[in-house]
Amino acid sequence: MSRNLPFSRQQLELFSPPPETGLPGSASAPPLPSGDDPDLTDLSRSLVASLGIPDLAKRVLVHWNPRLRTTAGRAYRTRALIELNPQLVRISPEEIDRTLRHELAHLVAAHRAGRRKIPAHGRDWRHACSELGIPGESRCHDLPFKRRQVRRNFSYVCPACHHRLLRVRRLKSAAACYHCCRTHNHGRFDPRFQLVEARLDASPPP
Ligand SMILES: [Zn+2]
Ligand SMILES: [Zn+2]
Repeated sequence: MSRNLPFSRQQLELFSPPPETGLPGSASAPPLPSGDDPDLTDLSRSLVASLGIPDLAKRVLVHWNPRLRTTAGRAYRTRALIELNPQLVRISPEEIDRTLRHELAHLVAAHRAGRRKIPAHGRDWRHACSELGIPGESRCHDLPFKRRQVRRNFSYVCPACHHRLLRVRRLKSAAACYHCCRTHNHGRFDPRFQLVEARLDASPPP
């Protein structure tokens, strides 16, 4: 992108995620999934069926739950329900798959144990993980992104779309809003969208 810019010291700024979450969350990002997922439910059912547990297989349901914060997934054995965090979509398909199998292993292990009490991430669960193709799976349920500890000291606002940008350091060169320059100027620097420094504690205009 910068090769197309007429001046080397001008730049387009992508808006960063809010510092308190560290997650991409801009208004232009594609919507995250929520509710039941028929495809992942089908996949789960065939995985469980392939382990020779048809009565569990036909009950499994996979559901995206937007209320999960840092938890990647959860399994509810009595309802044969798996809940996944929609933020997984922003990480990778592999991460969705790994989390799905991790939670499925909980359902499989619990089903086989019946009334016998088993530790959540004990031998039975690890065995089920191997059968489901994730041997050596870790017991961590947290999403694999680090929470940002970086303090953003400078705040900039686009005069056109009012998006806010937080930066650790002061911008040293003229910077314009990437979104507006893309929409109105073929992605090239446009002084109409030059970012303006704003007070850090000021709330963005509506
Ligand atoms: Zn687990
Ligand atoms: Zn803008």
